[in-house]
Parts: sequence; C-alpha cells; structure tokens
Amino acid sequence: RVWNFSAGPAALSEEVLRQAQSELLDWNGTGASVMELSHRGRHFIALAEEAERDLRELLAVPAHYKVLFLQGGATQHFAQIPMNLAADGQGADYIVTGHWSEKALKESAPYVKARVAASSAAQQYTRLPPRAEWDLDPRAAYVHLTTNETIHGVEFRDIPDVGDVPLVADMSSDILSAPLDVGRFGLIYAGAQKNIGPSGLVVMIVREDLLARRPRPLPKIFRYAEHAAQGSMLNTPNTWGWYIAGLTFKWLKAQGGLAAMAERNRRKAELLYACIDGSGGYYRNPVDPAARSRMNVPFTLHDGALDKPFLEASERAGLMALKGHKAVGGMRASLYNAVPLQAVEALVAFMRDFMQRHG
Ligand code: PLP
Repeated sequence: RVWNFSAGPAALSEEVLRQAQSELLDWNGTGASVMELSHRGRHFIALAEEAERDLRELLAVPAHYKVLFLQGGATQHFAQIPMNLAADGQGADYIVTGHWSEKALKESAPYVKARVAASSAAQQYTRLPPRAEWDLDPRAAYVHLTTNETIHGVEFRDIPDVGDVPLVADMSSDILSAPLDVGRFGLIYAGAQKNIGPSGLVVMIVREDLLARRPRPLPKIFRYAEHAAQGSMLNTPNTWGWYIAGLTFKWLKAQGGLAAMAERNRRKAELLYACIDGSGGYYRNPVDPAARSRMNVPFTLHDGALDKPFLEASERAGLMALKGHKAVGGMRASLYNAVPLQAVEALVAFMRDFMQRHG
C-alpha cells in the first residue's frame, strides 16, 4: 500500500481494513456480511451500541449529550443545524476562518439570520481572528465555528470561550485527533471520511437541551430530536459506515486513546512544518504558526513550474494525493490519525531529495 495523504476520503488504519477484510463474508459468526444484516436485528444493534459506547469513552462524552449516527455529509448539516436550532428571524453568529466555515455560513441563509461575528478573509485565511475581535451577540441562537479548515490548513487548538450561547462546531477534519472537552460545546458534527471511516456517515454529539428546541415544523427525517429518540434508526442508517467507525474507535482505544493520538499527531505535524520552514523558502506554508493545522498542511514550491514534476515524482515514490486544493494551489499533505509517522518521514525525505535534485 502507498502512503495516502488524501484530504478525504482519506487513509484508514491498515489494521481496521484488515479486520474488515477478514470478516467481510462472515461477521461475528452470523454467516453473513455485516452489510447484509438488518439494522434492527440484535447483531447489528449490539454492534451499534458498542460503537457508541467506545466513542463516548474516547471523548468522555457527558451523559446529557446524545450521540447520533446520521447521513447527508457535513454539508447537509450546514443547513439542517439552523433548521433545528433557530427560529425564523433569529440570529446566529459565524466565525469564518476558511472555505468550510464560509460554506456553512452560506448554507444556513434560508433558516437563520447569519452574521459574520469574526473573519480572517482579509488575511486570506492564513490566521485565526483573535477572540478579542469577535463581535458576538448574546441573543444568537448559536455560534458556529469550524475547528479545522481542511483546505486553508488553519486549526483552533484552544477553543475560545463564547459565553452562554451554544457553540456549534464542524469537526469533520480534526475530530478524535486529540482529547476534547465536549462539555464546552452545544453540538459537534463531523463527516466521517477523514478521521472516522467511510463517507456517507456523519457523527453528531448534541446536548439534550438543544434537541428540545422546536423552532419550526420539520419532516421527521430533518429533526435531530427524532433521530435521537429512535437511536439513529429512524430510517436505515449507513450500517457499513457505522461498523467501520466502530472498528476505528476500537483501534483508537488500542493506540492508547486520544492523548496518545494527540502526541503522535503533534510529532507528525512538527516534522513536516520543520521541513518546510527549514527549506530556505524552497517550500512555503503561509499560515501563522499559532494557527497551523496538525491535520492538513498546505504548502507551495518556490516555483509553480515544479508542481507537476513534484507530483509525478511523489507518486512514483509511493506518496499519494499530495495535490493541493485549487483554492490555495500547490500541495497539501493531510496527516489524519491513520497516517503513521513513518509516512511523514517518507514524505520529508522525498521533499529534501527533490529539493536537492531540482535546486
Ligand atoms: N467540513 C469540513 C471541515 C470538511 O473538510 C468537509 C469536506 O471535506 C466538509 C465539511 C464537507 O463534508 P461532506 O463532503 O461530508 O459534506
């Protein structure tokens, strides 16, 4: 297998994949694939409950939060969150720090009077707006932020205090990468395809009092409280995604939990940033060091004409998916949980060698 630096769908742990492979045709002695089991049968229910327990344990989720296994991608929830949390005419504050928080803001428009309470657009999203500059409305239905901007490579390592207004966080690209104080959030949501499992699954952790909000009539399928009441089985869930997520949670526990992952992720990111910063400008990352993401590292080469040879040579070297997003150009290395230190060591060795050969 190659080293996979894709931003998403992204690398999964090899152990998780091998386990799924080994039990693909006969899951847990049922004589059937897990994909072929009814979501309402006792076998799948047991699997689903265990996955939730493991996730709760990993993140120390307090008892007054529900864990939901939903669908629609994080994008659907950009709209569904305001549908569920805000009444017509009510305001919500958005902290805009890159492509994804911009999208969340735009998609909320039909359901809430979204305000930009802080933005780093003027700095091309190369830093985070300091908390002192946030203009928060204490009457807002919620404050929304994106903890890690997958494209711009900026990440909140410390979550600023927003007072009593519920904090809603898109954690699609950094959930489970480090311990988290769930109690500081009203709602956390994440598309699974980076740090959890296959695409098509969304994990949501939501405080119970927010589920009690009923700002407008909604079809059941759009109402989070309904999904919570039915154990995320209002309709057929993404059973395969739920199963792989469960294997990933077990794998994370076996790695030593989120404190161990945080340490590993810190070392990986430090190694790559040190290579970039130590290259005398050959490679560049434009992000304020205090805001640099540990998960997604965008970088450019000093001469754009080298992009193509860099990508071709990196692929030949078994380093996959380093092409950057078109919004920022250049390269991007995503260093999610399933990317081992060894992969980053291989990348850094390749980058040094490329620099020597194309200096
Ligand atoms: N939010 C963030 C931070 C993302 O990185 C992505 C996808 O890459 C999304 C939202 C959109 O997720 P989905 O494709 O699951 O709708």
